[in-house]
Amino acid sequence: MKVTKAELAHVAVKAEQYPKNQLPELALAGRSNVGKSSFINKMLNRKGLARTSGQPGKTQTLNFYEINERLYFVDVPGYGYAKVSKTERAAWGKMIETYLSEREELKAVLQLVDIRHRPSEDDQLMYNWMKHYGIPVILVATKADKIPKGKWQKQLTAIAKTLDKEASDPLLFFSSATGLGKDEAWRTILNHLKV
Ligand code: GDP
Repeated sequence: MKVTKAELAHVAVKAEQYPKNQLPELALAGRSNVGKSSFINKMLNRKGLARTSGQPGKTQTLNFYEINERLYFVDVPGYGYAKVSKTERAAWGKMIETYLSEREELKAVLQLVDIRHRPSEDDQLMYNWMKHYGIPVILVATKADKIPKGKWQKQLTAIAKTLDKEASDPLLFFSSATGLGKDEAWRTILNHLKV
């Protein structure tokens, strides 16, 4: 998709702060450092629009990026970040749970995993949790440029197996460094959001 307009339109912790214009939403989730901000920036052709989890003192908010006045990317704070206190983690859990379980505009979650590693326990918990709520998940294996092309398929198979992936959930590869997989990612997203 050609992105002509993309802006951080809403920042929310509570439901009252979510957008009210009823555009379809795609939430993006993944472990800190998986490449989520790089993914968002690459997909939107905007360097530095999305925050990175390496940023000290960043706030735990849901960030709504409005795209072409047609849909939202909802950046969910990364999980598994070591430097987060118990209280912060509990607040994170509550905020995410409320959003993912109650939000009608949410059409799918795009969950990022690192193509080089087997999904962690946190990744598995997140995936299972979304399946429990019946949310369609688009899995994206990031940093594909870090391993040779000949190894992609083997890694994707291992990822699907570890997560016990449902057949209807797509699993794509992606590289923010090269832009590889970008067109396919957009096609899959638009298809899921029916926009
Ligand atoms: P986030 O914490 O999930 O938002 O992750 P970031 O987008 O900040 O990325 C974490 C690190 O991985 C940064 O140093 C990025 O430059 C790097 N990175 C992210 N995506 C890719 C990718 O596709 N290829 C390569 N080689 N590095 C990447």
